[in-house]
Amino acid sequence: MTTSNSKTDTLSIPKLRSTFGGQVIAPGDPDYDTARTIFYGGVDRHPAVIVRVKDADEVARVIALARETGLELAVRSGGHSVVGYGVTEGGIVLDLSEMRDLQIDVENRTPWAEAGLTAGEYTSAAAAHGLATGFGDTGSVGIGGLTLGGGVGYLVRKHGLTIDDLLAAEIVTAHGERLHVDANSHPDLFWAIRGGGGNFGVVTRFKFQLHDVSSMYGGMLFLPATADVIASFIALAEAAPDELSTIANVMPAPPMPFLPAEYHGKLIIMAMLVYAGDIVEGERIIAPFRALATPIADMVKPMQYPEIYPPEDGEYHPVAASRTMFVDKIDRPIADKIVKGLQSSKASFAVAQLRVLGGAMSRVPADATAFAHRNSRIMVNLAALYEKPEEKPLHEAWVTNFATELQQGDTGAYVNFLGEDGEARIRAAYPGSTWDRLRAIKAQYDPTNLFRLNQNIQPDNK
Ligand SMILES: Cc1cc2nc3c(=O)[nH]c(=O)nc-3n(C[C@H](O)[C@H](O)[C@H](O)COP(=O)(O)OP(=O)(O)OC[C@H]3O[C@@H](n4cnc5c(N)ncnc54)[C@H](O)[C@@H]3O)c2cc1C
Repeated sequence: MTTSNSKTDTLSIPKLRSTFGGQVIAPGDPDYDTARTIFYGGVDRHPAVIVRVKDADEVARVIALARETGLELAVRSGGHSVVGYGVTEGGIVLDLSEMRDLQIDVENRTPWAEAGLTAGEYTSAAAAHGLATGFGDTGSVGIGGLTLGGGVGYLVRKHGLTIDDLLAAEIVTAHGERLHVDANSHPDLFWAIRGGGGNFGVVTRFKFQLHDVSSMYGGMLFLPATADVIASFIALAEAAPDELSTIANVMPAPPMPFLPAEYHGKLIIMAMLVYAGDIVEGERIIAPFRALATPIADMVKPMQYPEIYPPEDGEYHPVAASRTMFVDKIDRPIADKIVKGLQSSKASFAVAQLRVLGGAMSRVPADATAFAHRNSRIMVNLAALYEKPEEKPLHEAWVTNFATELQQGDTGAYVNFLGEDGEARIRAAYPGSTWDRLRAIKAQYDPTNLFRLNQNIQPDNK
């Protein structure tokens, strides 16, 4: 086996610069450190080269380069991989972040979006027409990685996952073929990229369905996080009509100016509620949430859809120990465990994020896409943020114990929130026949596992 150094010798940076122009970033270049930085901190990898591609031809050429040199290939869109898969040590980064074209067919509500767009950029542009496709809870996340894993956001109960709005995609395979995939053209590959992540090729463009979001009611609601309030919040969110999707973050109150000082550091629910429909009805549906306790702050109001993405600090690069899981219920005793679990953390910040699922997402058959968790009821993401690397084992142990405490019957996992959890958890993301089908499709489109820096599905090369 060749070492990464001897492989690097086979790369000629001057030659690459003459092929790709100013889009080649190599060690020593002034923007090298910025270009290898991803959203999460604690990831310090030094790629041999970063190529900021501008079209599918260049994507194919970078894929060929990875094939020929044998160097590890990282595919990066928005750079928010929880595991830092958007950057490689000693390999090649195929960076799609400059491919951000968006062509909206307003009449048919079907845009073609290049994969380097962020959720926030796409959402702002679509909102100019009163339209949206549901992505996640954070504007800076790339539509590339988010869509390929599934996509759970504020329209999940009304319109389903992001992949439920995916109509077609253009993809460059490991062999360099450029394919248009949809329900009729390469339907197997179209099935696989709706949940199977970046295992099957590099998607250059997505064609989505847009929805009318001209009338919205929602925003942030801050409540004290007692076990009663948490359990009642979840019960209300489960009973609410599909128009309402919620994310409840149970966490210590940050020292935000609009939160009274006496709450700072105390456990609160920072909830985001989005009612996608009539404003008067939205206010009526959300009223019981407001009545759960005296709100610490209430910013719920008629809203414009892009308000789900407030401005972000681009310099924020957290280091986290995290776990993702599904649970069937959060009743009073389980809510009590959540409170106690969070209180036992020694991290500077610990959070339990609770997302009630169901609605449109659950009406899609489990085998219709590679995201098989259609019947999962509540997604729980646990995280401890910390600063000192030597504290990693402490916080990993905490999050492992916490997840074990909360585990119920549903052993599945959402691939986009998986960390370096090992193969068993990747299998949990793709249960039963989903796994076998994905491995067979992988063998057809990527038999040498060129796309392996991901939650990897190994080809079944029979
Ligand atoms: C702060 C934060 C909030 C989040 N919130 C949500 C949420 O609300 N809902 C949700 O569903 N997820 C959420 N996620 C998870 C997110 O969907 C995944 O981390 C996703 O992989 C990020 O995509 P990216 O393009 O930004 O990341 P990248 O690091 O650029 O890509 C991640 C991986 O996806 C693959 N990939 C990316 N683009 C392509 C492409 N064009 N072609 C082929 N493969 C590709 C590659 O394997 C790559 O390594 C969140 C993550 C973070 C960090």
